[in-house]
Amino acid sequence: MSEFRADLHCHSTCSDGSLSPEQLVIHAKEIGLQGLAITDHDTIASYPEVFEIGKEQGIEIIPGVEYSASHRDVSVHVLGYGFDVKNEGVLALCSAHKERREKRNDRILKKLADHGMPLKKEEILFETTMGRPHIAKALIKKGYVASLQEAFNRYIGDRKPCHVRGEPIEVKETIETIHAAGGFAVIAHPHLIKDAGIVANLLEMDFDGIECYYAFMSDDKNRDWKKKAEKRGWLVTGGSDFHGEDIKPKNPLGISWIGEETFRKLQAGR
Ligand code: AMP
Ligand code: ZN
Ligand code: FE
Ligand code: FE
Repeated sequence: MSEFRADLHCHSTCSDGSLSPEQLVIHAKEIGLQGLAITDHDTIASYPEVFEIGKEQGIEIIPGVEYSASHRDVSVHVLGYGFDVKNEGVLALCSAHKERREKRNDRILKKLADHGMPLKKEEILFETTMGRPHIAKALIKKGYVASLQEAFNRYIGDRKPCHVRGEPIEVKETIETIHAAGGFAVIAHPHLIKDAGIVANLLEMDFDGIECYYAFMSDDKNRDWKKKAEKRGWLVTGGSDFHGEDIKPKNPLGISWIGEETFRKLQAGR
């Protein structure tokens, strides 16, 4: 038996990934992973059904989610693991995000129309949660932009002219919801948070772990985050942020992973 490896950060077609939950599990099996958490943006729609698929494929799956939270009006992604997938609080938080996204997406579409790029709702294809990548794909299809990157760089990326952040859902509330459902709350890809004040605030909060191994980040960057986690007695987690071929195509599944000890702790719940 090869070394136990689990990728704790990936997206399916339930959010903005290009593989269905089943294809994702099969892909994980193909590349030799033993464990997986599917962390779709603001939805747990692949659960609990994906547990069965995991059993069929011989891959252990733990509950996962990536909530798009806010702190002082800055976007902070919070990973949740090992919670009860039927918990009402978690499901209510997913519903609140769905509503937030619907309102925000309407405002983004309004701005795009004002910039001469009208899109009809039915031109935007998605399954469970509509995200900016789906809007970007519709912009390409209409010929308004040539690529996903152009859509983000010119129009809908953070702070670009057609971007809207939407009503904030706080990090604190997100952590409390995950805890009440018996799960662990983890700071996602801290490497990407540019504001040192925000990072300092997050490190004072009631998190349980930091995503210290992220995608293809270098060992020395990872080491800094590992030190911060260990100092606080927090878990060191990791994952690829795999989305499939369209988004972050340079993040292959399994490029970052964690071992069995951490996986079992997350699996057991808090
Ligand atoms: P949303 O959750 O709807 O705000 O969309 C955020 C998602 O869009 C992220 O998870 C990425 O997958 C993608 N994204 C955000 N910014 C960029 C960017 N500058 N270039 C490409 N994709 C991006
Ligand atoms: Zn995404
Ligand atoms: Fe993220
Ligand atoms: Fe992600």
